[in-house]
Amino acid sequence: MAYSLSATKLLTYRQCPQAYNFKYERGLSSPSAFGSPKFGNALHGALADIYQDWNYAYPVPSLDWFAVCWQQHTGELNQTQIHEGWMALQLYYERYVAPLPQIRKPLGVEGKIKASFQVSNIEFSLVGRYDRLDYFGDGLELIDYKTSKMVAPSDGIDLQLGLYYLILEQTYHQALQRLSLIYLRQGQRITFDVTPEHHQQVQELIGDMAVKLRADQEWEPAMGEHCDRCGYQRYCPAKSEKPEPLPEGAREGRQVQLVLGI
Ligand code: SF4
Repeated sequence: MAYSLSATKLLTYRQCPQAYNFKYERGLSSPSAFGSPKFGNALHGALADIYQDWNYAYPVPSLDWFAVCWQQHTGELNQTQIHEGWMALQLYYERYVAPLPQIRKPLGVEGKIKASFQVSNIEFSLVGRYDRLDYFGDGLELIDYKTSKMVAPSDGIDLQLGLYYLILEQTYHQALQRLSLIYLRQGQRITFDVTPEHHQQVQELIGDMAVKLRADQEWEPAMGEHCDRCGYQRYCPAKSEKPEPLPEGAREGRQVQLVLGI
């Protein structure tokens, strides 16, 4: 079976191989810092409908169309969330839809993508998901909607760019040109261009991981400021001279199946 990799997994691995091992190889859960996803889900759902169900025989949707789609997704929200969501959608409409002579049908909305990649006789399955995929120039642009209260791109955008480049190249045979984060509450868009270094970096990281998986090497701890937010400190040999044993139920290290040449 192929070894599944996502941008989040690669980011964890780059930050600290030992934390990666605890989380994905040994299967230990760590406390999540995320709040209720209902608000974000509702906005993502409304935007997916706005693009997916629009009749593209007409050039630009009206704000009423936005309201219709929004109303389909407010069932689990409180009044404040409904108001804030609608404000965000109006802002999006004013900035990114109303000025256009015509909106273009995306290649996909809320899609999952997958590709395979072989390194050192290990088959990796690269997986990702996107909010919207558009044609851009002679390639593609990924759109990621953000609902956070702060405009602050998270770490790992470079890995996301490289990973999605590899997946989309295999899936659509077209190059990913750029990734845009659209902060819905603030109506702000931040765009990152893809460079050859992005995909090279991801390929190298996967190659590095393949060596560890094959040769059963140590997943070394990589200490840094991120340790303060790490949920595995008590098991980590870098944090304590006598780390606690892993709890019952922790998986054994995974045996990776090699792809054998015929
Ligand atoms: S405490 Fe630091 S070094 Fe140890 S596993 Fe967590 S992130 Fe890695």
